[in-house]
Amino acid sequence: MTSNSHHDGGLQAPQQRASCSKVVALLADYLEEQLPPARHAELTRHLETCSSCLAQLKTYRSTVSLLRSLREEDLPSDLRLMLSTFLNEHAVH
Ligand SMILES: [Zn+2]
Repeated sequence: MTSNSHHDGGLQAPQQRASCSKVVALLADYLEEQLPPARHAELTRHLETCSSCLAQLKTYRSTVSLLRSLREEDLPSDLRLMLSTFLNEHAVH
């Protein structure tokens, strides 16, 4: 009888390419071109084949460009606060 047969519930999914959650987490850096070239290429490759991540990318990019096109003083303070919170959570500066 072996007593060392503990296991932690199957964490070992073999991953050779970037997972969707990892890609989404790196989207901000990807768009800002802050990633190392190899990682950037890895994400580009993933986005070419993964429509859900591509949709995330487009949503993120359009949100950021919308924000950049707005002048801050045009925004109500509540909205400005909400947007800056969003950017702080999703962008790295
Ligand atoms: Zn994906």
